[in-house]
Amino acid sequence: MPTIEEELGRRSLLYSLLMPVMSQFVPGLDKGKGMYFLFIKSEAKTPSGLVARPVLTSYYKSTHFKDRPYDPYTNYTSPNETILCPDSYQSMYSQMLCGLCQHKEVLRVGAVFASGFIRAIKFLEKHWRLLCNDIRTGTIDSQITDQSVREAVMKILKPDPKLADFIEAECSKDSWQGIITRLWPNTKYVDVIVTGTMSQYIPTLDYYTNGLPLVCTMYASSECYFGVNLNPLCKPSEVSYTLIPTMAYFEFLPVQRNNGVNSSISVPKTLNEKEQQELVDLVDVKLGQEYELVVTTYSGLYRYRVGDVLRVAGFKNNAPQFNFICRKNVVLCIDSDKTDEVELQNAVKNAVNHFLPFDATLAEYTSYADTTTIPGHYVLYWELSLNGTTPIPPSVFEDCCLTIEESLNSVYRQGRVCDKSIGPLEIKIVEPGTFDKLMDYAISLGASINQYKTPRCVKFAPIVELLNSRAVSSFFSPKCPKWFPGHKQWINMN
Ligand code: AMP
Repeated sequence: MPTIEEELGRRSLLYSLLMPVMSQFVPGLDKGKGMYFLFIKSEAKTPSGLVARPVLTSYYKSTHFKDRPYDPYTNYTSPNETILCPDSYQSMYSQMLCGLCQHKEVLRVGAVFASGFIRAIKFLEKHWRLLCNDIRTGTIDSQITDQSVREAVMKILKPDPKLADFIEAECSKDSWQGIITRLWPNTKYVDVIVTGTMSQYIPTLDYYTNGLPLVCTMYASSECYFGVNLNPLCKPSEVSYTLIPTMAYFEFLPVQRNNGVNSSISVPKTLNEKEQQELVDLVDVKLGQEYELVVTTYSGLYRYRVGDVLRVAGFKNNAPQFNFICRKNVVLCIDSDKTDEVELQNAVKNAVNHFLPFDATLAEYTSYADTTTIPGHYVLYWELSLNGTTPIPPSVFEDCCLTIEESLNSVYRQGRVCDKSIGPLEIKIVEPGTFDKLMDYAISLGASINQYKTPRCVKFAPIVELLNSRAVSSFFSPKCPKWFPGHKQWINMN
């Protein structure tokens, strides 16, 4: 999506509102630092020569971020050079090292999404010995080859055997429960988005942070930044965002429950005439009503459906506040990937071609975003009809996994290949009759037999358990799918 230079100024304005709000609830945040794991991603050129990159990469590379004046409220443990390092391993390693060195100063920790923060904890679990060695000796591991990163880290890193011993003692304990509060004892809250699909990570975060407040400060997208949470210490399930009316022109398309939200039809990004007539202005939204968010942006999107469903939760003075309900049509999400039903369907269709020589067909399938593994991964449950006599070798199922991954969108593949934020896709073959059992179960809970449709994605724990209990074999994608930095969906005209 196209964007323009002045848009970054508008986005910076929204960022500048976050700490004044936060400070009303948590005093003393100017007395220490924030340990935030922030990353850039690789960029590409469009055929016309414009830069194409994710919005946050644009922001971190802009002067708004890089040359921000000193402010005790936006003082981070990660030097800019470590955030701007294009190599994700070196970036994570150096940010973690700097965070550990300054552990007593850290008052808040975070990342953009919950998944990113958990990835940082997993990284620490894997690499703490190397990190301790660096802290003990005051030198940086040789795998960190980026000169600007080395120089920036050396300004912070001093030999500190006592700190190395302390980290080693904590990290080598059997349990990692509360590791965040143990290593960064002055942390007051975790700043990560845990609304929407990210709520799946709340139990894991609670475990590692000993139940520190999880704070969702803002609501934003590549197209446009939307709003802030004026009550940041509320429970994740109660978070509401107040839209900042100067970010874009906001309009709202009323959503009837059971009418579209989880429909499998891919919704166009534009509105038809009837829908245009139904639009409601920001000042006219009604308490309790659900709406699809529609924006007209300064950079040129006109009445564009963001794809999010919001519910009016209340008002701050006259400004409406919205709960984030869901993203229309997205069935699977681990990190910044969003896979809708149509895309999943096409990917599965491509994969089942591998069965042709075996006279087998796919009778039913569903999917699950498994975040119990770190990184999380997509799981597909497949029930097969086997007509042929030749058994299907495991390599064919592995090929199916890879074909599905190859068929998914570039954000998914980038997560798999480049950021390693998504693990290998898994196919679980379930016993014949499993999907009938699934239907029986849904009907026992009140689903209509006439209208029952196999869900293409499952989230409800008893259903996941039912599927897992009937799985007879499991296969993983044997390698990473192809991903080229040229296939991007974000375009930035800076
Ligand atoms: P992207 O354009 O890839 O950055 O994704 C933007 C989308 O992420 C939004 O349209 C939402 O669906 C989701 N998102 C962003 N911020 C939040 C939030 N605070 N809570 C829930 N979902 C969010």
